[in-house]
Amino acid sequence: MSSQPAQQPRTVLVTGGNRGIGLAIARAFAAQGDNVAITSRSGEGPEGLFTVKADVTDTASVDAAISEVEAHFGPVEVLVANAGITKDTLMLRMSEDDFTSVLDTNLTGSFRVVKRSLKGMIKARRGRVVFISSVVGLLGGAGQVNYSSSKAALVGFARSLTRELGGRGITANVVAPGFIETEMTAVLEDELKKSYQAQIPAGRFAQPEEVAKVVTWLASDDAAYISGAVIPVDGGLGMGH
Ligand code: NDP
Repeated sequence: MSSQPAQQPRTVLVTGGNRGIGLAIARAFAAQGDNVAITSRSGEGPEGLFTVKADVTDTASVDAAISEVEAHFGPVEVLVANAGITKDTLMLRMSEDDFTSVLDTNLTGSFRVVKRSLKGMIKARRGRVVFISSVVGLLGGAGQVNYSSSKAALVGFARSLTRELGGRGITANVVAPGFIETEMTAVLEDELKKSYQAQIPAGRFAQPEEVAKVVTWLASDDAAYISGAVIPVDGGLGMGH
């Protein structure tokens, strides 16, 4: 018997793959031999990763970026909707723009990239969509009505996609990280970090690579029968939700 590689290289697109969790995810796919494209808003990206410029709040920009990826690598087979922002503030101080801009990036931004990538997956009758949500989408968070709403909605999104496209070899899953050490969490007050840490059964924060491993597995053949699932990577912080 000839020895075949476990998996053929696929075209993988990670939005916001230029830093933080997205970069760790992009590197993990690249390390297993996939053809990885990432987006950044500046168009600049780390050495060795094919970078396209995209702002997920702009449909034309998403369209152009994915066309560039398709021209370079072929249709997107694995999409990781990772780009996201926070604009934390208590509800009574939260402006409508604080709310809608977070929704526009985290939720509608995911809609834009998924919609643009799906045709190729449907045609190929295979594909993987992984949404990066958050434990906060399930637990809620004081000062995070906007962020929590956007991340909770990704669960309904993935489950509806699963119902629409599950029969076509496409899976859609949600990864819900807890506290991961990136620029997003570096800005939090030390007191807040301490109080989070006290609530995490694992007793520590996590590194982006720990999220990346779960994402590459969800996109693998081994996870072909997992769809519409919410996989926590949170050291037990969100247990039961
Ligand atoms: P970072 O702030 O380090 O990175 C955010 C990424 O999103 C950047 O690549 C940024 O691109 C991109 N991005 C933001 N807005 C847009 C936009 N409008 N269009 C395109 N790209 C955009 O965050 P993390 O790596 O920590 O977070 C990544 C994801 O994981 C987010 O969805 C976040 O909500 C989620 N998450 C993070 C947790 C954590 O503890 N860190 C916990 C749970 C979930 P650019 O560099 O161009 O600005």
